[in-house]
Amino acid sequence: MKNVALHNLGCKVNSYELEVMQQILQEKGFHIVPFDEAADIYIVNTCTVTNIADRKSRQMLHRAKQKNPNAVVVAVGCYVQTAGEALEKDDSVDLVIGNNRKKDLVPILEEYLRAREGEGVSPDKTLRHTTVIDIGRTHEYEEMTLRQTAEHTRAYIKIQDGCNQFCSYCVIPYARGRVRSRKKEDILSEIRGLVEAGYREAVLTGIHISSYGVDFDGGGTAGYEGQSRLVDLVEEIHGIQGLERIRLGSLEPRVIGEETVRRLAALPKLCPHFHLSLQSGCDETLRRMNRHYTTGEYYQSVELLRSAFSHPAITTDVIVGFPGETEEEFACTRAFLEKVRFYEMHVFKFSPRAGTRAEGMPDPVADDVKNARSSELLCMVRRQSAEFRRYYIGKEVEVLFEESREIQGRRYRLGHTRDYVKVAVACAEKEASPKAGEIAVVRPESALEEGILLGRL
Ligand code: SF4
Repeated sequence: MKNVALHNLGCKVNSYELEVMQQILQEKGFHIVPFDEAADIYIVNTCTVTNIADRKSRQMLHRAKQKNPNAVVVAVGCYVQTAGEALEKDDSVDLVIGNNRKKDLVPILEEYLRAREGEGVSPDKTLRHTTVIDIGRTHEYEEMTLRQTAEHTRAYIKIQDGCNQFCSYCVIPYARGRVRSRKKEDILSEIRGLVEAGYREAVLTGIHISSYGVDFDGGGTAGYEGQSRLVDLVEEIHGIQGLERIRLGSLEPRVIGEETVRRLAALPKLCPHFHLSLQSGCDETLRRMNRHYTTGEYYQSVELLRSAFSHPAITTDVIVGFPGETEEEFACTRAFLEKVRFYEMHVFKFSPRAGTRAEGMPDPVADDVKNARSSELLCMVRRQSAEFRRYYIGKEVEVLFEESREIQGRRYRLGHTRDYVKVAVACAEKEASPKAGEIAVVRPESALEEGILLGRL
């Protein structure tokens, strides 16, 4: 039996795909070992979202070969799609498998092992095999089915792949191809299976879930004609017995229209937690980023959500130091963020990604300016986040418990509310404290530490 070690880099979609690959390997009799142990086969599910992600992907491939020079080192996924020659010249890598071929990992691997034996290649010599398709031309969604995940209560479900947006700083459409949506029946069947296995919450994820369904009926354009398809899907998932919560992954503000909000608000299992990707609070910067909305439209979406849901969590991503971001543009962003009041915000310092339009844009912003802008926004979001959580002190909230952990010398059970606020209850407080997967009503009384409310059952 061969020992296989897997390592994941990058986003939730990559994690999902890695878990399925691990599952397939186990079903075919491979034995999974931790990545830092000696293995016969190392699989690195790579990422290419930034130049740093490329570097980390290379580092992990080299680390695997150093651990066992006789091992088969397999590079899989996004970096493979964009690396081209760099990977060709890399002696650490034996087998290269691009996106949309992950489900075929085992037959590709077995064929490779047979070829290596058949050709009498000494294990410390590289016999290079490459399986990479032209991802920009494929229309096929790569169907993979997850039966269980490392998380205990929440399962991330992949509903689509690819992106048609071509934001000027992003390389993902080149690594993941155009929008390919998963069949509704396959999504529903996967979620039913996971609910039977004990999962209570489904998080719908993908590269650009707002585009779910735009490719059905021979579509595939960059519009949002698919938005009702996403709502149709959520409505069907809502009907699954035993599923308690549905959470949506990152959304484009443009999908949040009146009709969509009205239909979503009628679904009690839908968590009022909306990650609306913003990137900049200045229209001029948004235009250079090739984002297809204005801050006015964004704010309208936020207002719609706030009028339909009680105290929804609105979270976002912001890039600081995009080329040409002047003091005035940044001031605009800062003022917009103050106006919206986010629950959480991921702040990224712009770094040019090779192969994107933004790479060659004039007026780069100096690193010290990017650092200062990032610190300022992180400070703002800490304040806004604490304000959002404070609202719940003294109110009853529903918590889905996930784990037990020691904090400052005491043991607590922790879970999340529907709008993703982390809440702890002391274990000793009641004899039968809630277990992972249980939902209980808690009344938060104070902050336990930054980011966690302390409550009583
Ligand atoms: S929406 Fe923009 S940032 Fe997101 S994956 Fe597509 S191109 Fe990249």
